Amino acid sequence: MSEGMKVEDGQVVSMEYALHVDGEVVDTSDGREPLEFIQGTGNIIPGLERELYGMVIGDSKKVSVTAADAYGEVDPDAYADVPRSEFPEEIPVEKGVEIQVRDESNNPLFARIDSFDNESVKLDFNHPLAGKTLNFDVKIVGLRGASPEELDHGHAHTAGHHH
Ligand code: ZN
Repeated sequence: MSEGMKVEDGQVVSMEYALHVDGEVVDTSDGREPLEFIQGTGNIIPGLERELYGMVIGDSKKVSVTAADAYGEVDPDAYADVPRSEFPEEIPVEKGVEIQVRDESNNPLFARIDSFDNESVKLDFNHPLAGKTLNFDVKIVGLRGASPEELDHGHAHTAGHHH
């Protein structure tokens, strides 16, 4: 069915994966459907996408992606101190708690509590995986040409996931 096919631009790739960060599995397709994406469209992080070219169905690979090619380095300016008096009472003040706030234009922003004292709470607006090397175990389990509609939309149309 897919004789001679390999991962190249415009192919819909079905991929099983596990993502290890700092020695822990933080994401995996285990127990779910494989990830489907169109190669070459930036559907997945660039540092992983470019390592997949030429792989065929059944191929496995370990891919390490540095922070610069993944979610970026930790931005030291992406922190904000909020006075305890202005901090919503219903949110527990504990390290790592995720909260949603609004910027000046009312867009949602996500932050985590980095630290706190009696006066203020320091929020970290960096992506949780910023500054981290991502270690992927990937296996190609399916390849097919993308349909014109999929290419037009820029994403794969998996059963039940048509947008
Ligand atoms: Zn679509």
